Amino acid sequence: MSRAKPTATAAALLAVLLHGVSAAATAPAAGFAIVIHGGAGVIERAKMTPEHEASYRAGLAAALDAGYEVLERGGTSLDAVIAAVRRMEDDPQFNAGRGAVLDEDGDAELDAAIMDGAGPRAGAVAAVRHVKNPIELARLVMDRSPHVLLVAEGAEEFALEQGMALVPRGYFRTDARMRELEEARRAEAARAGGKSTGTVGAVALDRAGNLAAATSTGGLTNKHRGRVGDTPLIGAGTYANNATCAVSGTGQGEYYIRQVVAYDVCALMQYGRMTLAAAVHEVVQVKLRSTGGEGGLIALDRNGDIAMDFNSAGMFRGARDSHGRREIAMYRDVEH
Ligand code: ASP
Repeated sequence: MSRAKPTATAAALLAVLLHGVSAAATAPAAGFAIVIHGGAGVIERAKMTPEHEASYRAGLAAALDAGYEVLERGGTSLDAVIAAVRRMEDDPQFNAGRGAVLDEDGDAELDAAIMDGAGPRAGAVAAVRHVKNPIELARLVMDRSPHVLLVAEGAEEFALEQGMALVPRGYFRTDARMRELEEARRAEAARAGGKSTGTVGAVALDRAGNLAAATSTGGLTNKHRGRVGDTPLIGAGTYANNATCAVSGTGQGEYYIRQVVAYDVCALMQYGRMTLAAAVHEVVQVKLRSTGGEGGLIALDRNGDIAMDFNSAGMFRGARDSHGRREIAMYRDVEH
């Protein structure tokens, strides 16, 4: 952790020598950092058993540390967000990968996106039903195709072309998600408004100053077949640009799409000259709230500033940086 500071100081000195200005004034020692979320929604202390709480904390910690270790050994922010999101995709308690919620037909239809703040470049997949780790397929779309978004069977054909193995649909039908679907059907939950908690995402800043964002989800329980949320739509649920920040959202996707939430945070910084904290507050607490959009987001800027904000009861979240910060939280009130 202490290795980051001399590197940043050396970079600042070099900038002073090259450009004759004090880079330290405009670029504080950013170091490296990762922020994750495991979904926003009705996450309240009173409704959580100690076992569930411990289990979520362990799942978040494993993902946070997996991503952080990549950054610590000099890896890229892209590899770090993949490592964190992949962990949560394989953990059945989150609504992504193995634990994805089921649609009206009892199948998982998964969405994921990744964005590289350098470039910027992006890749995404939507409505895939046989992909174990959709975030990895999103990365392949970015790295090995001329496209940004591939959907459904076309995306799965591309996965096979790239040598990725597909999994049977039964892989996603966990007992917990089957029970949830039955409950949603019984309650006749509105089709487009079914509930979800547990979408996963990560944003990271690496030693080279590159930002990346990744988000992965099963969407909403009992959703209409073919429904795609904000997660794989670049600018809505996922966005990164080295000039400003990296953002991953979680909440009712329709609201995030209509308000282009992730890009809006970056635009407020770029054109509105807002700080990261002010931009995130404006989008989550003012704009989203004004239309009834419930949820939250995580964001990280090129200076290493971190934001984790939500207007829902809670949000599973965690942050760790090279200055020694490490925290995991889920409720609105202060946690220890
Ligand atoms: N944003 C996701 C979607 O609408 C769901 C969530 O974040 O909980 O697909």
